[in-house]
Amino acid sequence: MKIAIYPGSFDPFTRGHLDITERASAIFDKVIIGILRNSAKQALFSTDERVSIINEVVREIPNVEVVSFSGLTVDFAREQHADSIVRGLRAITDFEYEIQIAQTNRSLNPDLDTVFFATSLEYSYISSSLAKEIASYGGDIDRLVTPYVAEQMRKKYGILNERLVEAE
Ligand code: ADP
Repeated sequence: MKIAIYPGSFDPFTRGHLDITERASAIFDKVIIGILRNSAKQALFSTDERVSIINEVVREIPNVEVVSFSGLTVDFAREQHADSIVRGLRAITDFEYEIQIAQTNRSLNPDLDTVFFATSLEYSYISSSLAKEIASYGGDIDRLVTPYVAEQMRKKYGILNERLVEAE
C-alpha cells in the first residue's frame, strides 16, 4: 500500500490544494492531508476548524484522510506509515524553498521521498494568503476556493469585522 502525506497550513484549503489532493489520490493508495499545528503563524481558522472544513471539501474522495500534526514532518510521515511526501509547485519561488525542505527531510529519513506536483495552469496564481486578502475586503473568492470554503471565510470575516466594530 502506497501512502503519502500532504502536509501544509491550508489556511484556508484552496482550489489549488484540492487539485493537488485529487491528482495525488489517483497515484497513491492513500493520501493523508496533514495540517500543521503552528502556533507561530497567525491563522484565520483554528486547526480544528481546518480539519472540519477540509473533511467536508474532500468528502467524496474515498482514499483521502485529514489529520493534524505538530512537530517534524518526517515523524508525522513515520506515524502514518507513509513513504512519500506530496507538495505542490507553483512558481520558481516555491522551488527554492521546497527543494531545501525536501533535502532536509530526506537527510532526516532517507526512506522518505518528496513527490512534487506541478500546479495546473488555472490554479497557479492561487494562494491561501491571496484568498484571505480578497475575502477580508469582501471580494469575490469563488475562483480561489470551493463554495463551502468561501462560505466559511465569509462567516469568519463577518465575525472578525463585528468584533472590530464593537472594539471601536
Ligand atoms: P505551507 O505553509 O506548508 O507552504 P500551504 O498550505 O501554503 O502550506 O501549501 C501546502 C502545499 O500546497 C505547498 O506544497 C504549496 O506549494 C502547495 N500549493 C499551495 N497552493 C497551490 C496551488 N495553487 N497549486 C499547487 N500547489 C499549491
